Amino acid sequence: MTYNFTVSDRFLKYVTIDTQSDPLSDSVPSTARQKDLSRILVGELKEMGLQDAELDEFGYVYASIPANTDKQVPVICFCSHVDTSSDCSGTGVKPIVHQNYDCRDIVLPDDPQQVIRPGDHPYLKTKRGEDIITASGTTLLGADDKAGVAIIMDLVHFLTTHPEVKHGTVKILFTPDEEIGRGVDHVNLEKLGADFGYTLDGGERGSYTDETFSANGVTIHFYGNSIHPGYARDKLINAIKIAGTFLDLLPRDGFSPETTEDREGFVHPVHIEGGAEKASLSFIIRDFDTQKLKLHEARLEQFAKQATGRYPGSRYEFASREQYRNMKEVVDQHPEIGDYVKIAMERSGIEFKKSSARGGTDGSRLSFMGIPFPDIFTGEMAFHGKHEYVSIQDMQKSVETLVNLVQVWEERAAS
Ligand SMILES: [Zn+2]
Repeated sequence: MTYNFTVSDRFLKYVTIDTQSDPLSDSVPSTARQKDLSRILVGELKEMGLQDAELDEFGYVYASIPANTDKQVPVICFCSHVDTSSDCSGTGVKPIVHQNYDCRDIVLPDDPQQVIRPGDHPYLKTKRGEDIITASGTTLLGADDKAGVAIIMDLVHFLTTHPEVKHGTVKILFTPDEEIGRGVDHVNLEKLGADFGYTLDGGERGSYTDETFSANGVTIHFYGNSIHPGYARDKLINAIKIAGTFLDLLPRDGFSPETTEDREGFVHPVHIEGGAEKASLSFIIRDFDTQKLKLHEARLEQFAKQATGRYPGSRYEFASREQYRNMKEVVDQHPEIGDYVKIAMERSGIEFKKSSARGGTDGSRLSFMGIPFPDIFTGEMAFHGKHEYVSIQDMQKSVETLVNLVQVWEERAAS
């Protein structure tokens, strides 16, 4: 594609704006600074001719590129999040472009202890000759997800300057607070008016993610019997010890995040509190196969039963609630969503790689809210830390994929 990409210039500008979200804040969005970037995006969208671009009170940016075809093309949305992770500082990001990368260690100048080694990052090894952007050593980069934001903005730039490229209505959505799990809490689906969507928040070139975990949360309460310890003989049942026994029954060679990978599910204790009278534990339960969540829970409950069995007079309560579901259940009902991405990548000279996320995405929630919403790569790598990096050529390939993708949707639509 002979086109002067604007994606890297936009990216270098957006990452200097601090948009960290805050899990401890109850306000919406969780931090007002996220709107600093969103305001700029609305200004740029309007400058490019998207008259309806707006930032709402909750921090969401909506905009549309009107169709330029008579065909009945489904309305496609592209979505990225403006916030960055609270795991690592996002204040004063100084992006550095390492042109024509030679596969050597990258020493980050503001903290020379921070070295990005291709030995630790197999994907970086494949980037010889490309232009790599990193932070300077004291902050994250914010390619997650400003790479996605810049890619979508460059798509808008391309489509508004190439009216000969035919497409249906394209909707743009930029969300706040994705990193703290609230990215779609206040999204207005009616206003969005999309039939299908793609998040731009994936890693390696060519990756397409249409599968996420299915997730439940489990709470287990153990009830003992609290007595003054001076007079407790044969009466005291200590709930803390029941909880300890229970945890000790969990297998050490499987059934946990630290012992599983790829398509295996797990259970994972995330919180414990209590006293002699009552001890409570919270677990997250994860699997790609939603049916298996019940099996994992049954196994977990069996351990609770065994533990209380060793403390006569004790009892437990076991409660499960749904958190999110594997988007594949929804996306698979519309195979064209992935088929068209594959065609678009082939036209861009990219190998299409289906992958699955061992976690949830905003797309998994949006899919179950009614808009199938898989994810397309941006090139963002090693996110949430100081070693985050992105290749300019990967971002450009992502823009090219989207340009081809909107055309495939138009070509395949009924006239
Ligand atoms: Zn992200």
